[in-house]
Amino acid sequence: MMDRFVFPGLTTRVVFGSGTLVKAEEEVRRLGHGRALVLSTPHQKADAERLAAALGDLSADVFAEAAMHTPVEITERAVAAFRASGAGAVVSLGGGSTTGLGKAIAVRTGADQVVIPTTYAGSEMTDILGETAAGEKTTRRSPDIRPETVIYDVDLTLTLPVGLTVTSAMNAIAHAMEAFYAPDRNPVIELMARDALVAFRDGLPRLIADPHDAAARAKALYAAWCCSTALGYVSMALHHKLAHVFGGSFDTPHADTHAILLPYTTAFNEAAVPALLAPIADTFGGGSAGGGLWDFATAVGAPTSLAAIGIEEADLDRAAEIAVKNAYANPRPIDRGSIRDLLQAAWEGRRPE
Ligand code: NAD
Repeated sequence: MMDRFVFPGLTTRVVFGSGTLVKAEEEVRRLGHGRALVLSTPHQKADAERLAAALGDLSADVFAEAAMHTPVEITERAVAAFRASGAGAVVSLGGGSTTGLGKAIAVRTGADQVVIPTTYAGSEMTDILGETAAGEKTTRRSPDIRPETVIYDVDLTLTLPVGLTVTSAMNAIAHAMEAFYAPDRNPVIELMARDALVAFRDGLPRLIADPHDAAARAKALYAAWCCSTALGYVSMALHHKLAHVFGGSFDTPHADTHAILLPYTTAFNEAAVPALLAPIADTFGGGSAGGGLWDFATAVGAPTSLAAIGIEEADLDRAAEIAVKNAYANPRPIDRGSIRDLLQAAWEGRRPE
């Protein structure tokens, strides 16, 4: 039981369930708009066009160029398309890349956002926007960035490939993990984080056996919502910092990077706050939070070494250097040597104790 806490309230409206995509029109109108620009990646363009057709007159146009890490040159084209279309809102259909583009438009134009997530990355509940310009990724937070409405339609996740299902789920679990020791944690977020662990633990093996298992998809998307809420309402620390270092400076794939680092960052902080991370050990077994997550990651076929995603051993010194350059809150003090050791273990894929 926490003696003292602040609960900031949740400001994003959430519509959850199978078949809820049809609510998109109602949700855009509820925000007071008569026209919306539909966003997607090139890969999901056909889905975006189908949605635009279903929206009829409400759809101003489709902009299907969203890309990983929100490059500003794409955002500038999207903002021009948004302004030219006369829309007052965006409907972002896709994973974190598409949500990121919607946020980037919103923060520049004041557009309202209806987000329809199709991965478990968890950008939709947050006020965080990461953008890339001239090869450098910077992150900012603002109330204008947080989406107004999120529609979680379980049916849209049925097409998520098994590999991305697994790594995206590990990405989500990382948000829950860091919420347990966040200095601004509160009982609501902790409950959601705990529930998410159980839902992923039970749902993910079922999805590997059958990616079209609708009940398991619902469990996983519910868990993703819980984890996204944790990411959006309490502070993150070492794990997210390291994932940002690799994504930003080594251009590693987002979800894989989170999946690989998670057991190691968990083990690192578990040494300082074992009681706070006990819900993870309780959920995944394995005798420790870090070990339990490594066992789970291995069992569900997640990549477990930085070497597997193309990082060279020689890169680890530079990564450790960047990771300790700026101070940030973490339950265990950080120094270059201990981070270098963590990265060595993650590079080799050794099970944490
Ligand atoms: P993504 O959005 O790039 O999606 C990966 C690929 O999978 C894309 O080609 C996409 O079109 C496709 N895809 C998505 N859903 C699918 C589905 N259901 N079926 C078939 N294909 C599908 O990847 P992601 O991991 O969801 O998001 C990563 C990005 O999100 C990164 O840029 C990351 O920085 C950002 N992110 C931001 C926050 C935040 O709070 N700001 C949080 C999490 C992630």
